[in-house]
Amino acid sequence: MKILVTGGAGFIGSHYARTLLGRDGADQVTVLDKLTYAGNPANLDEVRGSGRFQFVQGDICDAGLVGGLVAEHDQVVHFAAESHVDRSIASAAEFVRTNVAGTQTLLDAALRAGLETFVHVSTDEVYGSVPEGSSREADPLRPTSPYAASKAASDLIALSYHHTHGLDVRVTRCSNNYGHHHYPEKVIPLFITNLLDRRKVPLYGDGRNVRDWLHIDDHVQGIELVRTGGRPGEVYNIGGGTELTNRRLTELLLEACGAGWDMVEHVEDRKGHDLRYSVDWGKIRGELGYEPRKDFEQGLAETVKWYLDNRAWWEPLKAPAT
Ligand code: NAD
Repeated sequence: MKILVTGGAGFIGSHYARTLLGRDGADQVTVLDKLTYAGNPANLDEVRGSGRFQFVQGDICDAGLVGGLVAEHDQVVHFAAESHVDRSIASAAEFVRTNVAGTQTLLDAALRAGLETFVHVSTDEVYGSVPEGSSREADPLRPTSPYAASKAASDLIALSYHHTHGLDVRVTRCSNNYGHHHYPEKVIPLFITNLLDRRKVPLYGDGRNVRDWLHIDDHVQGIELVRTGGRPGEVYNIGGGTELTNRRLTELLLEACGAGWDMVEHVEDRKGHDLRYSVDWGKIRGELGYEPRKDFEQGLAETVKWYLDNRAWWEPLKAPAT
């Protein structure tokens, strides 16, 4: 199978590419990545020597490039996106360009090429805040941030190519990922790397916002189940099974890094901060046998250790202390 992985130099996409190439088999993987600030060639060092791997630097909005590449592959697993909510609040244009127009460019290429399967990686944020219960795949989408709205638009456009054209599109909506190689602007790696440098960590508002945490191994497991056994035109939620308030997450991170609550700095809440995301992942469990395997505290300890052991990876990415 020839698989085109977009955004494969980023946090989750690179873990996906490393996982596919790290196991026996004949799958060939091409990573297409623009290498924005979030894309890091070092994330692919482990697989660079593989005869089954190819890297192409380029933009998913470049129809000429994308058309040629998609035509050479059997399947696309689409991770490429602008992914940071705070950046989308500061400036949304790049989110609309990459997440919406880029996805549509890929889908057009898939249609022209008669692609076998297109897996679109979406997010639980498309459902908006759910104060109680858990979002199911058929629930209406009520995204609130520009990031989530751009992901909802691309998610629906992807599904429209199935309904209108019969393209085999499968959409996954996962909860918050954590693990190694995570860019240190997101809460878990930001807090870990600050604490390793004895810098304070900024906690938004009162810290009562709730997120469900999913280890990247489990996310990759879920995507693989959907790619290989999912049904065309279907959406699958992928959850981690660990819902925590940001306050509780902060306590666990302080503990894991041997720091106290005096290292927390309360900062003004994020604009429009959704209170809670929660997905019901009964569908992927029932149909495809998905079950998150990574215990959160163990996964967090491994993640802290990775950042401790890999300063050379993250130090150049951190803003200097003020
Ligand atoms: P990331 O920001 O770490 O990586 C994104 C990658 O896409 C980078 O390598 C970047 O260079 C590349 N990219 C950006 N614009 C591009 C363009 N125009 N053309 C080609 N490449 C481009 O993101 P991530 O955390 O790995 O997320 C991957 C996907 O998973 C995204 O679609 C995101 O919306 C989704 N997702 C992430 C999370 C999470 O917790 N990280 C949760 C739910 C869904």
